[in-house]
Amino acid sequence: MEIGFEKGDYQAVITTAALGAGVDFPASQVIFFDLAMGKDWLTAAEFVQYCGRAGRLGKHDRGKVILLIIPGNKFHSGQTETEDEVAIKLLSGKIEPVEIPVDFEKIEEQILANISTLNECEIEDIENMLLSSKIANLDTKTIVTNLKKDNFVKTKEKEHVIITELGLATSVSFLTPRKAKTVIKKLKTNEDPLIIAISIEPFDAVYLSSKVHEELVRSFRFQVSSKLFSGSVLDLMIRKGSTRRLPNWIFNVFAKWAQTFFTCNCPERPYCEHGILNFSKYIVDLRVAGNNPSQISNIIARNFELQVYPGDIFHWLDSLVHHIEGVTRIAKVLQLAETYIKLVELKRKIERPTRGLKNVQKTTNTTHTKQKR
Ligand SMILES: [Zn+2]
Repeated sequence: MEIGFEKGDYQAVITTAALGAGVDFPASQVIFFDLAMGKDWLTAAEFVQYCGRAGRLGKHDRGKVILLIIPGNKFHSGQTETEDEVAIKLLSGKIEPVEIPVDFEKIEEQILANISTLNECEIEDIENMLLSSKIANLDTKTIVTNLKKDNFVKTKEKEHVIITELGLATSVSFLTPRKAKTVIKKLKTNEDPLIIAISIEPFDAVYLSSKVHEELVRSFRFQVSSKLFSGSVLDLMIRKGSTRRLPNWIFNVFAKWAQTFFTCNCPERPYCEHGILNFSKYIVDLRVAGNNPSQISNIIARNFELQVYPGDIFHWLDSLVHHIEGVTRIAKVLQLAETYIKLVELKRKIERPTRGLKNVQKTTNTTHTKQKR
């Protein structure tokens, strides 16, 4: 249920006090049906804890809390205060500052960026920089030790930190150390460099055509997501029973998706990452064949009853080129010459596809691999 909620399959979760007990729901808002738990009013600590479920750092820009209060309400005669009085007390009460859940990955990235700006520095310098950007209370030493273990930084004496080539390549590419580690692992196992770059940020803004979406909503009478890569749509795609409700043409559309994008042999297909990776690669292939974002959007609409917006394609291809540059830098540090050349060529093909010139490409390779930046 937690996963379903996070993916957006469920619009809301109705829960008892369990919500406070360690369940990590990133909800945009929390609504209190009343302010009692069992026969007692909520304590300030409980109230704060439940409020803390509303809004997650990095996910929502603010959390909303709504209290449904009945003025004058009491749950039993033993209560001296009414619900509205309790509400005011809780809201105005001295509330301990809530500890903000920190995004470790982001902070690690920030620390690496700081070191790379200074080139070399003392741990104390990093701590000061973090303090001024209001990220405090962190064990900087532990993070630096981790960065050193993964070869992003090296140390001279105890507290003197120096950026490595790998650390610099990671930082200027705006990759988090964690993402860079995944890239390194994949490069070392010789994975397709295009797929490595795509995996950093696959294209997920894929919507069902309104024709398909309306048909699914009509047939199943529940709110089906309009996004292809959502649990509810993938569920319907592989649903075995009660599919008689759907007209045949929808099955043909499903079959086309399955044959083109969901082609892996993973037991968790279609929920594994290969569907979205193959879809993203399909966009790149169309681009390399010389299509502009509008043409790509049209081709996908025509062939798959799927809607992708030219603007989304444009922005995604643009950031893909940056990710390819990042992977290229890392491949260079790792001295993977062959992969490096492949990546440089790939970038050129996406930026300046040569339509219908496929046969000539080989001879013009050397003149075109000059990098822009
Ligand atoms: Zn798979």
